[in-house]
Amino acid sequence: MRLQAVLSRIDPDEVVTLTRDLVRIPSVVRPGDPGATEAAVAAHVERWMRAEGFDVTVQDVAPGRPNVLASVGDTAAGPTLLLEGHTDVVTEGDSAAWSHAPFSADLVDGRIYGRGTADMKSGLAAAMVAAAAIKRSGVPLGGRLLVGALVDEEGDMLGVKHLCATPLGRQITAAIICEPEQNELCLEQRGVVWARVTVHGRMAHGAMPDAGVNPISALATLLREAPAIQRRLRAICTRSRHLQAPTVTPTVIQAPVQGVPQSNVIPANAQATLDVRLTPGPDAAAVAKEIDVACRRAMDLCPGTTIEWQPINGFRLATRVDRGEPLVRAMVRGVRQATGKAARFGGVPGSTDGTILRMELGIPIVTCGPGNRLIPHQVDEYVEVAEVLDAARIYVASALNFLKP
Ligand SMILES: [Zn+2]
Repeated sequence: MRLQAVLSRIDPDEVVTLTRDLVRIPSVVRPGDPGATEAAVAAHVERWMRAEGFDVTVQDVAPGRPNVLASVGDTAAGPTLLLEGHTDVVTEGDSAAWSHAPFSADLVDGRIYGRGTADMKSGLAAAMVAAAAIKRSGVPLGGRLLVGALVDEEGDMLGVKHLCATPLGRQITAAIICEPEQNELCLEQRGVVWARVTVHGRMAHGAMPDAGVNPISALATLLREAPAIQRRLRAICTRSRHLQAPTVTPTVIQAPVQGVPQSNVIPANAQATLDVRLTPGPDAAAVAKEIDVACRRAMDLCPGTTIEWQPINGFRLATRVDRGEPLVRAMVRGVRQATGKAARFGGVPGSTDGTILRMELGIPIVTCGPGNRLIPHQVDEYVEVAEVLDAARIYVASALNFLKP
C-alpha cells in the first residue's frame, strides 16, 4: 500500500535527532548582532535536504537571513503543497531560570526541552522527515511538495512576505503551517493589528499647564475608549468555538515620543500601542473605522489635541478556511490514517506566517503541528516526542492524499 510504504520509512530516531540538532543551533535574532540570525540553522536545513536529493532554493531575504525551500515532484502533475516552518526562535530570557539549558535539547522522559522545541523546530523537523520519507519511497506525486524553512516569523514576517513575492511563492496552491497546535487541525487563526496611536499637544512648563495642551491626558482619554473599541469589534466579528473573542489591549505607552522625559515638562506628544486581536469577519477598513471613531471621540473631549494612528506591520486579519476545502479533507483523512484517531479541530490564538500566505496568495491554509499550544515563548519550553512522530505521519498521509496522482 502506497501510504504504509512511505510511513515505514519514517525513522523515529531520525526525527528526534533532527529536532535536537536544530534546537542546539541557537537562532534567536538579536538586531545589531550580525552573528545572531537564522543563518546557521538555515544552512543545516539546506545541507540536510540536499543530502536527501531534494531540489533546494535559497532566497536571501536580508543579510544572513535566508529562506530555504526544498521540493519534490512536479508542478505539471498537479498542485503545489507547502509544509511551512520558521527557523527563528524567540529569546530564551534568563537562562538561569531554565531547569534544562535552553539550547541543550535535553531528552527526558519522552520530552525534548529547549527554546524552539515546540515553536517550532520539532514541527520543521517533522515536515523535513515526512518529505524525505516520501522522496525515499519513490511514490509518484500528483503535484509538488515543498518544505519551506522561513526566517523572521517572530519578527516582521519578512521571510513569508518575501516568498509570496517570488515566482516560486506564487505557485503554492495550499499550505500546512507546522506550528505547535497539539496536532489539531486549525482552520481559523485570530488576526492582529498593532495600532500605534500618537497624540499631539503643546509643550509647556509643568507648573503652568494652562500654557500648553497636555497630550498625556488626551492619551488617557483614548485608552479609556479601549473597552468600547473591543465591544464594537466583538459586534462586527464572527463568534468562533475555537477562538477567543476580539480583545483590545494597551501594551506600550511613551511620552514624549522622542527625547528626554522630564518631571516638570508637559511633552509635545505621547504615544501608545493597542494590541488588537480579531476573529474572522470584518475587512481592514471596517476594523480601522472602529479605531478612528475612538480617536475622534478622544479628540472631541480634549480640545487642542490631534490624535492619529497607524498600523505597525499592516493589518493581519483573522483567517478561516472552509471544511470542504480539498486540503482540509485530505488532512481529516490523513489524521485518521496516521494516528488511528479522528481529527480534532482547534484555533490559533495569534497570527502566523499562514496569515500572510492566506492574505497575499488567497490559498487555503491549515495550521497543525506538534507541541502544546500554550508552551511557546515560555521558560522550560518542551515538546513530546510522541507528538512529533504523529505530526510527521500526519504530514505524510495528508500530502499523499492531497497530491494523489
Ligand atoms: Zn512559531
